[in-house]
Amino acid sequence: MSEPNPELIQTIKQRLEIIESNVTLAAEKSKRNASDVLILAVSKRQPLSIIEAAYACGVRCFGENYAEEADEKIKQLSHLTDIRWEMVGHVQSRKSALVAADFSRVHSLDSLKLARRLDSARASQQSPQPLEVLLQLNVSGESSKEGLPAWEKDQWEGLLPIVSEILSLAYLRLTGLMTMPPLFDDPQRTRPFFQRLRQVRDFLNQQIPGIGLTELSMGTSADYSVAVEEGATIIRIGQALLGPRIYPQGN
Ligand SMILES: *Cc1c(COP(=O)(O)O)cnc(C)c1O
Repeated sequence: MSEPNPELIQTIKQRLEIIESNVTLAAEKSKRNASDVLILAVSKRQPLSIIEAAYACGVRCFGENYAEEADEKIKQLSHLTDIRWEMVGHVQSRKSALVAADFSRVHSLDSLKLARRLDSARASQQSPQPLEVLLQLNVSGESSKEGLPAWEKDQWEGLLPIVSEILSLAYLRLTGLMTMPPLFDDPQRTRPFFQRLRQVRDFLNQQIPGIGLTELSMGTSADYSVAVEEGATIIRIGQALLGPRIYPQGN
């Protein structure tokens, strides 16, 4: 096991401090507590050395996009037993077993088929625990975006039977919503999409009593301050924390 490079640790530490202070400012603006916002380090296409350096800075929650790339890293870093791995990328249903085994939370649940597969994969584990999931919504209408359609208010009704079925699956625990809005040069332009995700969460909480959705996974390096102002409870930060991605794309 190589010791992480001290300069790399220093660099990531400084970036983390900047992000934390921006989160604090944004939380104050909207009368929220910064401690209610999780900074998830998105480590896709980053080498182990970067993850180890971030770990040395106290980062414990890492987000990955590609099941196989993640599986490799998770095995290699299995000695860091308190890391929490979260899936943020699109999951092909044939990768369900791998994802159900490796991750403690999936942000990118975008179909009932995937929900059923993850549920049964999780159920067949030894002493199974429910897998925490977030429903990924497309709140922009961009065709390139994954997620269930929710950019128009009259689409929200259509989410109810899907959400109800997910709630009926014993080995999934639905706690909130996730979105990936379009990328703009001006982060203010993403604000309406973050607001929309929050409105959908409030709508679902109203329509399905007892569902108690709390999580809003929204905001990346480009726009996390605006996301926190609009209620993000998880921001998914890649390059602003870990630097440019270098590792070739896996699958
Ligand atoms: C890559 C990725 C991120 C992080 O993006 P950065 O711009 O590097 O902060 C967040 N969420 C998802 C779903 C991603 O794929």
